[in-house]
Amino acid sequence: MQVYKLKSVILVSIFAILFILSATAIPQEIAVEPNSDSNDLSLTIVYDNNPYGKNLETRWGFSCYVKGTEKTILFDVGGESSVLLANMRKLGIDPKTVDIIVLSHIHHDHIGGLNDFLKVNPEVTVLLPRSLPQSVKDIVNKAGAKLVEVHKSIKMCKDVYSTGQLGTFIKEQSLIIKTSKGLVVITGCAHPGIVNIVKKAKEMLKTDVYLTLGGFHLCWMNPRQIRRIVDGVKEQGVKKVAPCHCSGDLARKLFEKTYGKNFILSGAGRKITIRNAF
Ligand SMILES: [Zn+2]
Ligand SMILES: [Zn+2]
Repeated sequence: MQVYKLKSVILVSIFAILFILSATAIPQEIAVEPNSDSNDLSLTIVYDNNPYGKNLETRWGFSCYVKGTEKTILFDVGGESSVLLANMRKLGIDPKTVDIIVLSHIHHDHIGGLNDFLKVNPEVTVLLPRSLPQSVKDIVNKAGAKLVEVHKSIKMCKDVYSTGQLGTFIKEQSLIIKTSKGLVVITGCAHPGIVNIVKKAKEMLKTDVYLTLGGFHLCWMNPRQIRRIVDGVKEQGVKKVAPCHCSGDLARKLFEKTYGKNFILSGAGRKITIRNAF
């Protein structure tokens, strides 16, 4: 009888151990499952006046969705929230996945979509230039989102930085992502000058620039001025360029001529993926 009881106890114990092992094995398997995208950085232009993706709306302005970094970032929110949210939906991007919103500068075509975006996802931290008017800061506070006023250059999360407010008349911050290939610099309008922004990024992180993407603010400049800036960007050693928004067609052509295959044609819906970025 005693032996029978002992056998039962051992058997029950074995089953219990097996059950525990099988239960703990499930999450472990999920955790170690290789994810080919885990080390990639993707930059999707969700709002731009230049067309690129089919069925996407174009409006004057800019917004870029950054995924693959520790926090998912929306850099600028365009001028019209309806266009921003519709484009995100068509691109299969859930606004609720955004952790941080970065506003580059005061112009409406970069911040106009803020109020309605925060209605969809208020669980974000909004980093904006300290110089922005109180009315914009109030939008963030009223929505219950976290507000961070940027003055000097700061680190937002692992490998992601703001240049801090640059420029004198129109103050603007740009986004810097440190990747294994070099820095990725994203600009809203580049009012402080695209060459100055690139120099600042290099100075800050002591790393060369791999890619510059966004508005370069060259659409009102004459060919000679544009030429000088294209050369300036090239001289700074920027490897790839993706000028959109306020860069202008002429500047885009001249960049394409100078950069060849390292020129990336961009517009609403353009997704740039950098493999093994970290
Ligand atoms: Zn703009
Ligand atoms: Zn602007």
